[in-house]
Amino acid sequence: VSEGKAGPALGRWWCELAWLGGEDATADVLLEAGADGSFSRVEPGVQRDAAGDAVALFGLALPGLVSAHSHAFHRALRAWTQRDGGSFWTWRQRMYDLAGRLDPDRYWQLASAAFAELALAGVTTVGEFLYLHRDRDGRPYAGDPFGDAVVEAAASAGVRLTLLDACYLAGGVNHPLDEVQRRFGDGDAEAWAARVGGRADGPLLRVGGAIHSVRAVPPAQAEVVAAWAGGRGAPLHAHVSEQPAENEDCLAAYGRTPTGVLADIGALGPGFTAVHATHLTADDVALLGGSGSAVCLCPTTERDLADGIGPAAALRRAGSPLSLGSDSHAVVDLFEEARAVELDERLASGARGTHAPADLLAAATAGGAQALGWPGGGRLAVGAPADLCVVDLRRPQLAGTVSAGGANAAAAAVFAADASTVIDVVVAGRPVVAGGRHVLGDVGALLAGAVAAVWEG
Ligand SMILES: [Zn+2]
Repeated sequence: VSEGKAGPALGRWWCELAWLGGEDATADVLLEAGADGSFSRVEPGVQRDAAGDAVALFGLALPGLVSAHSHAFHRALRAWTQRDGGSFWTWRQRMYDLAGRLDPDRYWQLASAAFAELALAGVTTVGEFLYLHRDRDGRPYAGDPFGDAVVEAAASAGVRLTLLDACYLAGGVNHPLDEVQRRFGDGDAEAWAARVGGRADGPLLRVGGAIHSVRAVPPAQAEVVAAWAGGRGAPLHAHVSEQPAENEDCLAAYGRTPTGVLADIGALGPGFTAVHATHLTADDVALLGGSGSAVCLCPTTERDLADGIGPAAALRRAGSPLSLGSDSHAVVDLFEEARAVELDERLASGARGTHAPADLLAAATAGGAQALGWPGGGRLAVGAPADLCVVDLRRPQLAGTVSAGGANAAAAAVFAADASTVIDVVVAGRPVVAGGRHVLGDVGALLAGAVAAVWEG
């Protein structure tokens, strides 16, 4: 039981069941958000009758889910890359076709709808890893309209955002940018830092940096990005060893694995998140874990792109906190991402239960908040951002999975819930989804319009 300082409440909710950590949920929890948008009161054992004017939330309340790795525009590829086989690299060509068609307005339209889909799925915080920066001819814009588009899209969809602005300078190890990739460039890391440095954090916005990958940023330039993030205390992310070919090219050029290169330039540490971390050596796992670097797994994208299964359990044991990302948005369901970490591990290892349900749910919430520069977030706790989602336990998918007193709630959320069971979502104390309806209205129509505009426009 804890209670913050008194003051006008922005919102009050009575939760039939709320997950406060551990394997079980707690019954009859009163939540209150202060005017600053963080929880000012989290009090179990308050009967509904005693909760006064609090909004009653029936079902299982969870901290808001966090997608720590998103490329919003990839949403336009869903189901359009499934017929012709191929590999990660042929998929990437299709993605480049799409990237070539975008402008800041279309990015805004797609991101606004994609973020609304994420919100409907219970996601309250998104880490958008943005690598489009220039116009179709590779010329810099005045200002940063793609970044502006993402920030405005998150605001319109009602989600908390960490803008992970990606430095992308090369088309591969020792390869120049090609015709499409010119849109991703900044010239050099100093120009990248000058562009990104113009954007300030806000109440629902964190600005972070990203090294797209060792393929796309030479070590000396990556060092500048890492130093920028370190100096600012901003989160730093990088795609790491998603595909074997990246490791081969990196080893041939630098005599080090991608993780080794990132360690050499001082990128690793608690502020760093390795995205994917699929094809790692034992030394890579030790470097990441030993430095306290975080790892963001994107299992539904990794299976879609035939990336492989990363060593999630070994990373966690070595000391790397885990987070989850919906990445390409081939699937938007953080519950599916969470259970996939364990289920993939079962297929690879022949053992069940390497990851406890509560740990998987923590990866989908607090782990993501930490990776995106919202420390202490992703929890129903006093002082944490007042972000939550509620799953409807009356749905057939969830019936019988949680006791009336809340026993087994983490396992039910991870192994039985899906995005469609989310009925209420609150961000910074304000409702974004109520009764299964997003404040923007018909999100399906918004998505259909945004996808059609980019392919047919
Ligand atoms: Zn990615």
